[in-house]
Amino acid sequence: MTIASVRQSCTRGPLISVDGVTGVGKTYLTRRAVHALDDKPLALEGFSQRADSRRGLGEALLGALGEASAGDPFLRGGTPMAEALILLAIKRHDLDVAVGELSRGRAVIEGRGVDTTAVCQALLLHPDNGDAALDTAIALLELASSYRPLPDLTILITDDASEAIGRAQRRDQRVFTNEQATFIREARELYERLAATDPARYRVVDRRSVDEHEAADLIRTWIHGEGTDLGCLHEPWQDTDTRCMCCGHHADPAPA
Ligand SMILES: [Zn+2]
Repeated sequence: MTIASVRQSCTRGPLISVDGVTGVGKTYLTRRAVHALDDKPLALEGFSQRADSRRGLGEALLGALGEASAGDPFLRGGTPMAEALILLAIKRHDLDVAVGELSRGRAVIEGRGVDTTAVCQALLLHPDNGDAALDTAIALLELASSYRPLPDLTILITDDASEAIGRAQRRDQRVFTNEQATFIREARELYERLAATDPARYRVVDRRSVDEHEAADLIRTWIHGEGTDLGCLHEPWQDTDTRCMCCGHHADPAPA
């Protein structure tokens, strides 16, 4: 799909994202999962947890989206494609921040990766057409992969939408409007359809069939298992003579 990850022995750590609709338990289950790991991954917080902080360009861009969307919980400001590009810039910023730790061999976990951007913005571009939204989500991932390498592994946490909505409402002490609840339901469905298109990259935790202990165990096993046999990471927008962002190997070494 992309030239970003060329198979070659690399000493870097894995880049893992955890995605899913609000209230599905991404942060909670990930924290439980990594608690028992000896080598703690670097955790990059998701969009929602850092909206009020002031720490860098990623947060500043997020703040601009928040302002332009006038407090919409999904940062919808009415220009989904422009918002998609800003969200991808935030995800690129996250990679820039994390590349040092990846290079040292540490696992990096993104709370919400480019898949969330692909799902949410595709839904906004095709509000009444699930098939078109799926095609657009796939195309947005392709676009994302020209900004930065996709995650090695994306863990999708999913659940009955009503359960997720109830959890998010209790946590955030808010009540979603019918329109917002519908958006969450459609996003949940699109996440699941998108994950099914690339079983090599996605692992799915379905809370309708596993309890939270099993869910955390699964996530821990997947994070632990992703640490070896990783390909080099190359700048996807550079065609020739590119070195791995982590170990410095060339993408296309001359034949011996
Ligand atoms: Zn490398």
